[in-house]
Amino acid sequence: MNYDDAMASYDPVMGLEVHVELGTRTKMFCGCSTTLGAEPNSQTCPTCLGLPGSLPVVNAIGVESAIKIGLALNCEIAQWCRFARKNYFYPDMPKNFQTSQYDEPIAFNGYLDVQLEDGEIFRVQIERAHMEEDTGKSSHIGGATGRIHGASHSLLDYNRAGIPLIEIVTKPIEGAGVRAPEVAKAYVAELRELIKALGVSEARMDKGQMRCDVNLSLRPHGREKFGTRSETKNVNSLRSVERAARFEIMRHATVLDDGGTIVQETRHFHEEDGSTTAGRIKDNAEDYRYFPEPDLVPIAPALAWVEELRAALPELPRLRRARLQGEWGLSDQDMQSVLNAGAVQPILETIAAGAPADQARKWWMGELARRANESGTDLSEQPITPGQVARVCALVAEGKLNDKLARQVIEGVLAGQGEPDEVVAARGLAVVSDDSALGAAVDQAIADNPAIADKIRDGKVAAVGALVGAVMKTTRGQADAARVKDLILQKLGAA
Ligand code: ADP
Ligand code: MG
Ligand code: ZN
Repeated sequence: MNYDDAMASYDPVMGLEVHVELGTRTKMFCGCSTTLGAEPNSQTCPTCLGLPGSLPVVNAIGVESAIKIGLALNCEIAQWCRFARKNYFYPDMPKNFQTSQYDEPIAFNGYLDVQLEDGEIFRVQIERAHMEEDTGKSSHIGGATGRIHGASHSLLDYNRAGIPLIEIVTKPIEGAGVRAPEVAKAYVAELRELIKALGVSEARMDKGQMRCDVNLSLRPHGREKFGTRSETKNVNSLRSVERAARFEIMRHATVLDDGGTIVQETRHFHEEDGSTTAGRIKDNAEDYRYFPEPDLVPIAPALAWVEELRAALPELPRLRRARLQGEWGLSDQDMQSVLNAGAVQPILETIAAGAPADQARKWWMGELARRANESGTDLSEQPITPGQVARVCALVAEGKLNDKLARQVIEGVLAGQGEPDEVVAARGLAVVSDDSALGAAVDQAIADNPAIADKIRDGKVAAVGALVGAVMKTTRGQADAARVKDLILQKLGAA
């Protein structure tokens, strides 16, 4: 069934659960380091390994970050709340329970306004934001797929076990209609910007620092009662969030139209074709035997502290976007395309790295947006950094590259050929402005085009463009066009 047919009969309801790994220096309940990419199991201790007799201590920055997120999401902040044990067995969770929060989250009842592609604002209600900890990581070895099925053995790395997580859960999102997948993507995008603006996490989805579970159900138009939901786990890019929602809408509609029933289950998302497949059955009877964590004192943030944090919140993304639009002098429409391309942050970082605003915008919205589009990836995932784009801008400003060469340098950086300067050197891309190197090409162009040369000698200076073009062609775009023009005029006595 296609999307439009599905939407003609059904109304989607969504729930988004986003996990954000905080960027704290140490773990949530012990002093172990959180640095990514360390030797497996080198960042562990008795507490995060769940050894008998070890005791947790709460990371104050973790709590502070949770409150900041709650405030930025317009939530109420609990005056008193506790951690709870969520009991289940999984090898990558050494304590056999996850320290989380259950009926007493630190933040609850908020909302986040998100802007859709046409500029419309959609309000997503937030159920809660609570603190918990990440699990370790299993790698299944010996099979073809990397999944546990078919593997000969598994390896466990507990470096990630105990890294602070904030889980942000929406209330059921109703009323989005055909735009449900777009709302899901816009919500996660806005949340990511917010988290980054707060400085509590880099929120890189490609590094697993932020991941989203997409709950989705359909109900026939006009029916109030929700349908049964599926829960697509760990979706890890903005585009995938949108695709997962879209795929589930079509899948649910197909099952329901055939008179089937949707089972409440988790599902896996597949990047290659945007499909989902069944995971484990998850009915509401699932029992984690939650109980209050006896080894940790309750959290009772002083009102004065909460107000201090509220007063110190940075400018939030929506207001900042309005300010930037003014500073960059963009029309509503131009600003909207920058937003739709996800280019605000890359542009800002490129400006911070020294590029002029118009140049930064030009490269991210031109060449790089086009490539992102072609490859169906997010702009922020392009293998080029804002610092590298800024360096390309600087080379153009210094006259060492023209736009055509700059495009080739960007192409080289994207292809993994190194830093901009390395690509320039390796491909020999610098603009040629040296008169002796240009002289021969200029003489040749004059000799090849005697009629045009005569016009210029007679004072028709505007004709010089054709000769400059000829030189650019023979130098394969590498000549400094301004210098070429000067040389031609000099040689023809028209300067
Ligand atoms: P669980 O831990 O089982 O995933 P949560 O309450 O943490 O349950 O999250 C469920 C998410 O799904 C929430 O965002 C909630 O608003 C949403 N949700 C609940 N029921 C439905 C439904 N029938 N259809 C779509 N979303 C739902
Ligand atoms: Mg869930
Ligand atoms: Zn530890």
